[in-house]
Amino acid sequence: MHILITGGAGFIGSNLAQYHLAKGDSVHVVDDLSTGSLENISTCLAHHNFIFTHADVLVWSELKVAVRSVDRIYHLAAVVGVKKVLEDPRKVMATNIAATERVLRAVDEVNPSAKILIASSSEVYGFNKNDGFTETDDIVLRSGGRLRWCYAVTKLADEYLAYSFANTSKLNVIIARLFNTIGPNQTGKYGMVVPNFVHQAVTNKPVTIFGDGTQTRSFCDVRDTIQAFESLMSCDSANGEIINIGNDHEIAITDLAKLVISRAKSNSTLHYQTYEQAYGRSFEDISRRRPVLDKLRRFTGFEPKWALEQTLDELIAIERKKMDT
Ligand code: UDP
Repeated sequence: MHILITGGAGFIGSNLAQYHLAKGDSVHVVDDLSTGSLENISTCLAHHNFIFTHADVLVWSELKVAVRSVDRIYHLAAVVGVKKVLEDPRKVMATNIAATERVLRAVDEVNPSAKILIASSSEVYGFNKNDGFTETDDIVLRSGGRLRWCYAVTKLADEYLAYSFANTSKLNVIIARLFNTIGPNQTGKYGMVVPNFVHQAVTNKPVTIFGDGTQTRSFCDVRDTIQAFESLMSCDSANGEIINIGNDHEIAITDLAKLVISRAKSNSTLHYQTYEQAYGRSFEDISRRRPVLDKLRRFTGFEPKWALEQTLDELIAIERKKMDT
């Protein structure tokens, strides 16, 4: 099979590229390396079935040529991470909306039978106060132009773009609402909590908890995410559907900090920071985030296999190795 991954040098994309290469597929990664890195795909670069193009999907001149010859496209290129979103909202809007439309148009024009997965995000649920988020739940965003919602708005626009192409052009598009994903190659540079906590614990520095630490998240190992992608891409009835992907085990951020410290046998202490201290401005955080996975289970029989502790142990070992070299 021939696979195109936009944003394929990023955290999820690079793991996905490795997975498909190991299966014997040929993989073409396009990435502008704005948040992804060559280091993430270093094991892929020498592979005879691997092509890397350094380009921004928004203006990549060879997009149609690449799309024409593939069976599957994973459109993961996006500006991610709270820090990036607050620093460069204009880039978020352009990359996350216009690039998605460009990819969908290209597929429609030159390869309408290809399978496409568009990465959306649990951010779209916004301030919905439900215990767990189901795909048909209300979207609760603040009005008043707060930058924080820039990302959610772009992902929602992507969903509607994908949905319209699925309806009017009958493209085989799956819209994946990804909840917090963790695993190898994820960087803490853009504010993601698990790589930050792991680095802090391994180096015995204070673990920085933003807010009061009672906010919860549900972390899914990237290898489970990839299994969910694989199952959905092989399921024709999933075309045109919006589907949550994640792990429904929920944990408060303070408990996560304690868990990382204990798994790393670290001397780190807990250090609480206000959002102003953390982000340099006030910030409305989501207090609870847990996916309801009934729809994913119904379509694919998916069950996450990686326990949080297992992923943390692996990430701690990788971080230790990095520190030793
Ligand atoms: N967070 C934290 N310390 C950090 C980084 C993040 O306490 O060093 C918190 C953050 O405020 C949020 C949660 O951890 O409540 C998850 O943050 P992340 O940016 O990883 O994901 P998202 O907020 O997009 O779910």
